[in-house]
Amino acid sequence: MPEGNEIHRWAERHAAAFAGRPVKVDGPQGRFTDAAVIDGRKLVRVMAVGKHLGYDFGKDRILHVHLGLQGDFTEGSGPLLEVRGALRLRMWNAAAVKRPAEPGVSKRHGWYSEDDGTGHVAPKKVAWVELRGPMDCSVYTQAMWEKLLKRLGPDPLNGDGPEKMIAKVRKSKKAIGALLMDQTVAAGVGNIYRAELLYRARLNPFTPGNEVEEKRLRSIWKDAGGLMKAGMVDRRIVTTRASDRPHRRGKVLKEEAHYVYRRQGRECFVCGTKILTKVMAGRNLFWCPTCQAGKKQEE
Ligand SMILES: [Zn+2]
Repeated sequence: MPEGNEIHRWAERHAAAFAGRPVKVDGPQGRFTDAAVIDGRKLVRVMAVGKHLGYDFGKDRILHVHLGLQGDFTEGSGPLLEVRGALRLRMWNAAAVKRPAEPGVSKRHGWYSEDDGTGHVAPKKVAWVELRGPMDCSVYTQAMWEKLLKRLGPDPLNGDGPEKMIAKVRKSKKAIGALLMDQTVAAGVGNIYRAELLYRARLNPFTPGNEVEEKRLRSIWKDAGGLMKAGMVDRRIVTTRASDRPHRRGKVLKEEAHYVYRRQGRECFVCGTKILTKVMAGRNLFWCPTCQAGKKQEE
C-alpha cells in the first residue's frame, strides 16, 4: 500500500499539473458516478493527509481518493489513451491533451522499490492522469472532509507536531508496532515505515505503547518526518544509512534499501541475526530480535 510519502508526492504533482485551471473529469468504468459534479470546474488545490487525497473543486466538491492496497495512478503527456482495464477515473487538461506526447514518458510509474524517478514526466508536463483500483474515489462535502481530518492522527509530512500521537501511544497497552499502523495515531505511516522506524529506534515492536518513553516517541516522529520527506523525491523508500549497507558507495541496491522490511530469514546488516516476521495489525511485521530486543519479544 502506498504510504504518506507517495500520497503527498501525488498531491504535489497533480497540483502542479492541474490546479488553478478547469479540469476535465470522467469515470469510464462506471463506478465513479460523481464525475459530472466536478467535471470542467476549476481545481483550487490538492490536499494530502495521511493516505488520503482531497482535490478541492470548491465548497462541498472535494474529490476524495484513497488508494488502498491496489490503487495506483498512471500519468502522461499528450492525448488521452484508449480506455483500458478498470479505469475508475480520468482527469485531464483539455488544452494539454491536444499537444503531442513527450517522447517515451507516458507511462505507469514503476513500483516503489525499483522506481528511482527515472523517466517520469515533469509535473508541469502531465496532461492527464488515470486512476485504477482505489479503495475510495468519491466526492466529499466540506463537512465530510473535516470529519475525516478530525479522525486522523497527526501527519509528519504536514508539519504536525507529535503531541497527539504521544498522548495516544502513552495511554495504550497495545504494541507500538500496531499503534504506528493506526491512522488515528499517526497518519501516513504504513507497513514499511513502521518496521523501519522501529528498527532505526532499536525499539522492540511488541513493547506496549505505555512503556515507550516520550523522548523516544519524539525522536521516532522526527525520524519519520525526514525519512518520509526523502521518500517524496521518487517512489523509493530508503531507510538504511550508507555506513550500514554492505555496499556503501554508489546507487542504493534494492536489497539494501531497508533494514528489516521483507528481509525475513536474512541477516541483519548491523548484527548478523536473522530477521523475523509475524503478522501484526493485519500486515507482516519485520524486526531484528537482537537489535530490537525486548522483554515482550513474541507475545
Ligand atoms: Zn540486528
